[in-house]
Amino acid sequence: MEQEEKSLNFIEQIVEKDLAEGKNDGRIQTRFPPEPNGYLHIGHVKAICLDFGIAEKYNGVCNLRFDDTNPAKEETEYVETIERDIRWLGFKWGQIFYASDYFQQLYDLAIRFIKEGKAYVDEQTAEQIAEQKGTPTEPGVASPYRNRPIEENLRLFEAMQRGKIEESKMVLRAKIDMANPNMHFRDPIMYRIITSHPHHRTGRKWNVYPMYDFAHGQSDYFEGVTHSICTLEFEVHRPLYDYFIDQFSGPNFCGLSPYGPDYRPKQREFNRLNITYTVMSKRKMLQLVKEGLVAGWDDPRMPTVCGLRRRGYTPSAIRTFMDRIGYTKVEGMIDQGLLEHTIREDLKETAPRVCAIFDPVKLVITNYEGQGETIIAENIDGHEELGTREMKFGRELFIERGDFLEEADNKFFRLSPGGREVRLKSSYIIQATGCEKDAEGNITTVYATYDPDSKSGTEGGNRKTKATINWVECNSALDAEVRLYDRLFACENPSAEEGDFRDLLNPDSLIVKTIKVEGSLRNELHAPIIKDGIEQENHYQLLKQGYFVVDPDTTTEHLVLNRTCSLKDNYLK
Ligand code: ATP
Ligand code: MG
Repeated sequence: MEQEEKSLNFIEQIVEKDLAEGKNDGRIQTRFPPEPNGYLHIGHVKAICLDFGIAEKYNGVCNLRFDDTNPAKEETEYVETIERDIRWLGFKWGQIFYASDYFQQLYDLAIRFIKEGKAYVDEQTAEQIAEQKGTPTEPGVASPYRNRPIEENLRLFEAMQRGKIEESKMVLRAKIDMANPNMHFRDPIMYRIITSHPHHRTGRKWNVYPMYDFAHGQSDYFEGVTHSICTLEFEVHRPLYDYFIDQFSGPNFCGLSPYGPDYRPKQREFNRLNITYTVMSKRKMLQLVKEGLVAGWDDPRMPTVCGLRRRGYTPSAIRTFMDRIGYTKVEGMIDQGLLEHTIREDLKETAPRVCAIFDPVKLVITNYEGQGETIIAENIDGHEELGTREMKFGRELFIERGDFLEEADNKFFRLSPGGREVRLKSSYIIQATGCEKDAEGNITTVYATYDPDSKSGTEGGNRKTKATINWVECNSALDAEVRLYDRLFACENPSAEEGDFRDLLNPDSLIVKTIKVEGSLRNELHAPIIKDGIEQENHYQLLKQGYFVVDPDTTTEHLVLNRTCSLKDNYLK
């Protein structure tokens, strides 16, 4: 695919400026920080392409960090699929870290905050705390526990960790400023109690878990991240990110980083990816999976990485898509048509063409005397270098029912009795002579004669006809199950609609059919080939029908093809 000339995005501009100013001794370190509470979706891929892309481009390193601070929602299964999906996309991380690796350090920091009078244990309910928050224009109300003695805070926080306090009975809050115009400064929660679920890595060791704001920046700091890139909704958290780090760096430096007192990770924010006709929230996706409204996280209609893969998207198309939409500070909605346009362009260059008949009717070539023959056809017309395939030809073929009309006007150029010549794709020219019908008047067989001197690739093959039709030879043809996928939702922005998003699902998002495909696809009758833990996909263009990918449900007897996209491009540039 042609590479478009691109100017630097605003993050790259920041990185280049930092490098020019000699910041961090020229070191570039990013991280991708998924929470292992679901599968990666295409929104995450936007972040992945930036985090890993910046590191690749500027000789830095991008680490993978699992942001596993909420044991109630996180599972090892998710860790494994996240790693697999990133590898499939073609990115390589430096190291793998877990926020849970820092639980001890974070706990020690919290104790330090308490000792310095910067944190207190609050016994109010979540509702009470929320009520006291105030509004951006009105200051909040101080908790009655705000000024409790340091010794008492220490004792209670330790009791929280020892499992002596019930969930939601106490939290640890930072003591900052209940009147700050930035609501995140109004004594944010640092720690909460979770005893109901063991942690997927640390088991029952911890009963208190740090909140995002207290864990994320610190994790960046412990690892030496230089550019901590995240989505725009975290922009309002940035002052708090900096505030926490200020408490133990610069003049407060206490040796928690090998990079010295002046080192500080910098958070930068870009616009999230939103795409029409889908949802991108893990909560909603989990609901679709749990309620059986889709076949699983990797259902080809899902916006997950494994769903897109199973739909037939390629890593290169997905990465090209991210380049095209770019990174800005403006939130918006991307037309799903652009994603489809990008995969279509990608597969156009690479997917071998094969014949498939969706609504077959038998065609008998009455003057064909041979026992059948093999036709060599190019995988992609006009691209000898992309190889050829063998097609069986014979006296009995399947053609599309719609390619024959018993009585046609002069605008119909395909098969019809009356002397009209039509080419069978990559082979001979035929003329229809008549047809046979059943009692209901449905055509059961079409009859035709062929011209033995008209074979494609021979001199007679140059003779032009107004129409070319697809065919597969009856004896060698193979049945295939095709899964015709369409958009998951019937409306453009299901998240913006009132009511239940599940009522907005597109009822026609999956149509299953059995069709006839040419015998060369017998090559695909095997269990999925797994390389480096990743199933390998094979893509085809079914001529006149669309791009398809072989589904992993395929066995030695049964071929399953998923429609990636149709051939028609409705995307208006
Ligand atoms: P959800 O809210 O659905 O649970 P999340 O954003 O909390 O998703 P994380 O696993 O925390 O999911 O996200 C990991 C990284 O991916 C974060 O840096 C986040 O900013 C980024 N990310 C998540 N969704 C998008 C999106 N739609 N577009 C761009 N980046 C995203
Ligand atoms: Mg998150």
